[in-house]
Amino acid sequence: MKIHAKLITSFGTVLVATLTIFGFISYYTFANSTRQNSDRIITLQSSEVIYQLTKSLNKEIGQIEQELTAFVQQNACSLSSEAETKALFAGFARRNPLFHSISLYHVEARNIPAEFRSWLDEVAQHDQVEPLFRRQSDELYLLWPTQTPTGRAFLVIAIDQGQLAASIRSYLRVNGCAVLLSEQGRNLLTPVQQNPLHPMAAEVLGHLTSNLSPGRIERQGGVYTYQTRDTLLGADLTLVVPAGFYQADLNSLKNRIVAAMLIVGWVSVWILLFVAFKISSPIRKLSKATKDIVAFNYSTELEIEPSQDEIGELAESFEVMRQKIKNLVTKDPLTHVYNRLFMMHLFELAVLKAVRQEGSLSCIMMDIDHFKKVNDTYGHQGGDAVLVAVGKTLRENSRDYDTPARYGGEEFIFILPETPLSHAVSIAERIRMAIKGMVIPFEDTEIHCTMSLGVAEFDLYQVNTTDQIIKNADQALYNAKQGGRDQVVAFRKAEG
Ligand code: GH3
Ligand code: MG
Ligand code: MG
Repeated sequence: MKIHAKLITSFGTVLVATLTIFGFISYYTFANSTRQNSDRIITLQSSEVIYQLTKSLNKEIGQIEQELTAFVQQNACSLSSEAETKALFAGFARRNPLFHSISLYHVEARNIPAEFRSWLDEVAQHDQVEPLFRRQSDELYLLWPTQTPTGRAFLVIAIDQGQLAASIRSYLRVNGCAVLLSEQGRNLLTPVQQNPLHPMAAEVLGHLTSNLSPGRIERQGGVYTYQTRDTLLGADLTLVVPAGFYQADLNSLKNRIVAAMLIVGWVSVWILLFVAFKISSPIRKLSKATKDIVAFNYSTELEIEPSQDEIGELAESFEVMRQKIKNLVTKDPLTHVYNRLFMMHLFELAVLKAVRQEGSLSCIMMDIDHFKKVNDTYGHQGGDAVLVAVGKTLRENSRDYDTPARYGGEEFIFILPETPLSHAVSIAERIRMAIKGMVIPFEDTEIHCTMSLGVAEFDLYQVNTTDQIIKNADQALYNAKQGGRDQVVAFRKAEG
């Protein structure tokens, strides 16, 4: 299995396992929540809502009380005459959309409507100072005890019930809930106005309006209610929240989690592919470069970006190793021309190419003349100096694609791709002259030497292997030695 496949498999398994576990946990959490909330109506505590409502009314009515006092003092009137105060109260009523109408009744007055009489008695009896909500047939009133310069009185404010329900709801962040305002066991808002949205509202409200037990949590037919006592107006507030509200929230949370998981999964897959590629790419390149080295191919550069990690270190060491192996495997350490091993490899390739292209190819075999004598005269070090000088001259006289190599001892070979015999002979002649002209300084003296060269060429039908070409070149070299040395001889079939 390829390394990037392994990386993708292992990372992918971890990713899939994580997403699956997360998915299962989320699924069961949602399934449980959905089951628990499927047929319930939940109530909220409402003290904050009542507080907000009464705060705004307190401010508004405090203002009205101040203006009333100022009006009485300015006009020196008793406020008992409706005609005098009608315009004033009409103005008050327009102050707040909650107010339908506002009237004022003195406790001792005779003109109190019958429906308020009993409330007034109640107020007088209990020395009531807190405002009260009262329901009278379809109307909802707010009775607000007050002190005027003309005596104890109370403001009777007819409340717009729809506006009140809307106003209470505006303090809540729950849509479609039923809002109940109750006082002393009586519901103050009618069911129709309270919750036009929820189908269970009528049933719930029917129960609550007939049988309220303030300050207790109740459960009735899957409905929970809570009446708070924390009221400034002496009223209780119950909110009946449809389960659908939570269900919708839960659903949108579920959708968001699914979307997040998909995004995380999608992004992770790309990161995973990128990381796997990043890790495996230099390893693939190293593997290819190693195969090239095994195949005597040292020309491919290792294109790995330098990095501080282990792969960077590996690439650096590999490059050093590649250069060392290249020199060890391909070059002769004394003369720095190619060695016999590598020359034979290149020679095989050149022959294959010549066969394939039906092209030309020549080979020059060279042997230093009377080399034994050099060794005998100057010692082995003198002989080595000559070999080094010959290697240098051969390299200087070769084209990029020619292959000068040390065949063994003081014998050299030159492979000339795409070169016919006649051309090879002239190259051999040039080499011979160059060798002959060499002045090799050694210790206190100078050494001169000559070379014999035998040239042979590839022939598609008769001389088409390295062995045959070398054999022919060797024969020509032998002839050159026989002919008196320091000369170039080309192999001719008849001579062979
Ligand atoms: P000929 O003209 O017939 O070639 O005569 P020659 O003396 O060159 O004869 P031959 O080719 O038989 O001699 C090769 C000598 O080269 C033998 C060996 O001592 C010497 N030789 C081989 N390799 C090396 C080397 O690496 N260094 C030195 N100094 N001498 C070497
Ligand atoms: Mg020899
Ligand atoms: Mg020799």
